[in-house]
This record gives sequence, structure tokens and C-alpha cells, in this order.
Amino acid sequence: MSHDNPPSTEAEKPRSRHFVQDEIDADLAAGKNEGRVQTRFPPEPNGYLHLGHAKSICLNFGLAREFGGKCNLRFDDTNPSKEEQEYVDSIQADVAWLGFQWDALFYASDFFEELYQYAEHLIRTGFAYVDDLTPDQVSEYRGSLDKPGKPSPFRERAPAESLDLFRRMRAGEFPDGARTLRAKIDMSSPNPNLRDPVLYRILRAHHHRTGDAWCIYPMYDFAHGQCDALEKITHSICTLEFEIHRPLYDWFLDHLPVPSRPRQIEFARLNVTYTVLSKRKLLELVKSNIVAGWDDPRMPTLSGMRRRGYTPAALRAFCDTIGVARFNSTVDKLVLENAVRDDLNKTALRVMAVLNPLKVTVENFPEGKVEWIDAVNNPEDATAGTRPLPFSRTVWIDRDDFREDPPKGYFRLSPGKEVRLRYAYCIVCKEVRRDARGEIVELVCTYDPQSARGATSDGRKVKGVIHWVSAEHAMEAPLRLYDHLFAAEHPDDVPEGVDWKANLNPKSLEIVSGAKLEASLKDAKPGTQFQFERVGYFVADAVDSRPGAPVFNRTATLRDTWAKLEKRG
Ligand code: ATP
Ligand code: MG
Repeated sequence: MSHDNPPSTEAEKPRSRHFVQDEIDADLAAGKNEGRVQTRFPPEPNGYLHLGHAKSICLNFGLAREFGGKCNLRFDDTNPSKEEQEYVDSIQADVAWLGFQWDALFYASDFFEELYQYAEHLIRTGFAYVDDLTPDQVSEYRGSLDKPGKPSPFRERAPAESLDLFRRMRAGEFPDGARTLRAKIDMSSPNPNLRDPVLYRILRAHHHRTGDAWCIYPMYDFAHGQCDALEKITHSICTLEFEIHRPLYDWFLDHLPVPSRPRQIEFARLNVTYTVLSKRKLLELVKSNIVAGWDDPRMPTLSGMRRRGYTPAALRAFCDTIGVARFNSTVDKLVLENAVRDDLNKTALRVMAVLNPLKVTVENFPEGKVEWIDAVNNPEDATAGTRPLPFSRTVWIDRDDFREDPPKGYFRLSPGKEVRLRYAYCIVCKEVRRDARGEIVELVCTYDPQSARGATSDGRKVKGVIHWVSAEHAMEAPLRLYDHLFAAEHPDDVPEGVDWKANLNPKSLEIVSGAKLEASLKDAKPGTQFQFERVGYFVADAVDSRPGAPVFNRTATLRDTWAKLEKRG
């Protein structure tokens, strides 16, 4: 017996259609919805969008695009105490940034009147009643997984009486929490969602759109499917935890005069190692000042990742790579980092920056002379052109690129050894100078004037290539080196009674202040990405950069170990 080996990398995996596409194919083949495909992305405006939402956005908008259908943006704003206009604005900006344009924009609150009328319909038809139990009593009566619920004493209330009470709930006659409207389904159902779920609660909270017009608000389950039906959504795609709500979703559609019949399909939510994807928890990080805001570059929010230097193309490619399935799993954060590296490798301009500078004096290069070299902006993109790069007698190199006692196979600079300064000349280290404390402060070198553009005077091979910056021309800028916000692979996997934030990485941000950068970076436009050669991908911070004084965020380190890089010419 032989087994096929599983594909060893994502790239080798044969691209196949995922199960949601198959379901839609089947619906179309069966002639459902007059051949229409319409999806929606339904965020609750109670926080900023994160990477998990990107998966949902790519899926919903992607399906609409693929099937020639439509995708709406719907704000699920039925919980006024947690929702804000700031979140509505950021969500729209983030969806657009990711590269998607919604066909129509709706708010669940647009349908508050229709939803209210649907509730009256259920009361009149005997499928809903006003309950006077307190919220605590309601949950006590509901039972548990292994214990059936028991009926409320108000369950058999006459429809006319419930209707009257419901209207008075709307009119504001009762205090918050005094009564609820409940569907009359099945108190002994094995599915707790069907044990007479609450449809409306009394809540005096200012709503970001409807203001104080309402003092009763529909519950999520009562709003969601009916909004889908009113918008004529055909496929209502949500995450797996809603699978157990599907019978209720369908029950409402069966019992209400809705204008269309949407269908709920569940998929696995995205989990990523070292990352927390929950608006509630991300909000806690913001509120407790553990991060500098929703757009802190360490946050897995779309605004944080944008500020970190992630591109929409990289995030879309990531969502494409991870696919869509019906079982929960956790994606290795490396997959995400590789997606941004792959994209930035194609597009980012190459520049040089020395993080830990060591002075090099090229003693046979004339004092005061400046040679302007044509440096390639991006070897992966011929249209990116070249820039003039100044070379002079004094340059900065990185301390890590010099070893007084080099191990075997070390191709960077060491006493008596030769190395190439990228785009420029080969230099040999002649002398090491130290300060009074014995620390190395300067290397005196000579250069081979015939070693420009990869040549050498006698054709000898110089293996090592290092980056450098002309001291006379260098500028300084703060660099922020970011690492995982959490030190554990599964951050919220903490023992009972332990704060979920216990796994925060104390070293998630290191600020490098003495770095020497190529002068061309002075005018880096905020939001522009660069590859600092041999160091990593960086972006000019969009918030803290000032004209002529950029601040750089490290997006990702280079995948390449430097051993691989030093072979490049
Ligand atoms: P959170 O728990 O972070 O608040 P949520 O599901 O409550 O997430 P919503 O604003 O209700 O957030 O989500 C909008 C849409 O995004 C929903 O359809 C939801 O299923 C989807 N979504 C949210 N988180 C993820 C995730 N991690 N992976 C995939 N889809 C997600
Ligand atoms: Mg939610």
C-alpha cells in the first residue's frame, strides 16, 4: 500500500475550489435565487478590524467578484452601548484600503422599524410573548446543556396582552431590563438557542445613529438573518461558532414574511500564532495603554498592520494562501510574514542604513572628494531606476560586519581581509583604532580604485559584500524594531485564573536611535516601504514622521540569513 505524500509547501498544493464555492455552485445549478449571488461583510462597529476580518472580507467580496454578484457592507449596530462612529469610519477606511468596494452600505439600524414590525408579527401569530422575568431569571429558566429549560410563567400570555406590553416597552413605559420579548419555540430543545430566545430588550442607551429614538433594541440573532433577507443576501457567511445558531436563523425566516430566503454557511475563523484576534481583547490592550492605540504597529488590526508597512496585496495574498475550510486551525505567523516579504521584495526600494555604526576611514581616497554612484533602486523592478549614492573618505559600516578574530568562513571585514562595499569599492582593513577604554572606534582601510561595479584590479574574487553609508552625507532617524506582541505561540492559552495578558512579550519594541541612514531617506514619504539592504523591510511611519524627519518602523526582517546575502555582488 502506498500513500500519497502530503504536499510539502503551500505553494505546491494544488489550487482547488473551497467548500463555499462548491455550495454556491450547487445552489446556482439548482436554480436558486434566480442565479444571483449576494454576500455581505457584517462587522459590529465596536472596534477596529483585525486580520481575522480580512479573511472574511476577502472571502465575501472575493465570492461576489468571482460569481459576478454583489457584496454589501453592513454595520451590525444593535448593541448601542459598545458602538461608536469612530469605529464605523475606521472600518470603511480599512475595507477600502484592503482593495474592496461595497455595492451598498447598510446599517442594521436602517431596519429597526422593519424588525419591530416583524416582532409584532410573531406576537400576533402566537410565536412571541412579552416576558416579565428578570434577566437572571431568564437564564436560570433556560436550563443548561444537560438540563432542559422550564417555561416562564408568562409564556402563555395572550397575544393581545403581549402586543400591548410590547408597544408600551417601545413607548418607554418600563425601566431597563424590566421585560423582554421572547420567541416561543421549545424550552426543552437540545439546542439552547431554541429555548425561547430573547428578541428584544429594554435599554436606554444613546445609539450612534438613531440617537434616543429607541429604548428597545433587537438581539443579534433576531436582527442578523432578517437584515440578510431585507438586503436580499443569498449567502450569509459567518464563522463556525454560529453553526449552532443556524436553526434559529432558519426558524425566523420560516415564521416571518421576509422578502427573500438567505442561507447561512459557516467557515473556520482565522487564528494566527503569537497573535490575539478578538476585538474585545484588542480593545483591552488599547484601554490599558499596553499599546499606543488601535494602530500601534504591533497590533494585528488592519490599521496597525498598515502602519507597520503591510500592503493590501500582501494581506490578500495571505488570505488566498490560507484558504477557507470548515475546521478550526492555527496559521503559523511565518506565513503572514512571508506574504509581506514576497510582496515588498517586488516593490520596495532598496536603500542602505547602518543600525550600529562603526567608522571606516578609506585612507587612500582623497579628502574632500565625493563620488556619486548610480545605485539600483530595486533589482526586481527595472522601472524603479537608480539613485545617486555618495561615496567619500569616511563611511559608516555596521559593527556586526567587522570581527577582529573572524571564525572560519567569515566573509565580512576583519584585519587584513577584503570586503566589497555594496555598489562601491572593495576595501581592505589595515588598522584597528581604539579609544582609551579599549573599544574599537575606527577602522583604517584602503580601497582598490579599480573595483567599481563588481570588478577588481586583478580579477580576484571578493566574496563578502556589506552595506555602508557615507559619513559626511548620512542622516539619522529613529528606527523602531518590532517583534511579536505576545511571547507565546498561543497567547490566550493561559491556565485558569491567570490574566490572558500574561504572555505579553516585554521586548516587542526596541528603538534604535543612533542609526546612520542614506541621505535620500530624508524625504521619505510617510507610508513608503523600503528594504534596508541586509537589515529588513521598513516603512516611514505615517503618524510620527515629520517633513525632513522621518521615523521608520520595521515591517519584517529579511528572510535571508546574511550568509546567503553575502554571496550577492
Ligand atoms: P471579534 O470577536 O474580534 O469581535 P466578531 O466576530 O465579533 O470578532 P464582527 O464585527 O462581528 O466581529 O465580525 C464581522 C465578520 O468578521 C463576521 O462575519 C465574523 O464572522 C468575521 N470574523 C471575525 N473574526 C474573524 C476571524 N478571526 N476569522 C474569520 N472571520 C472573522
Ligand atoms: Mg461579533
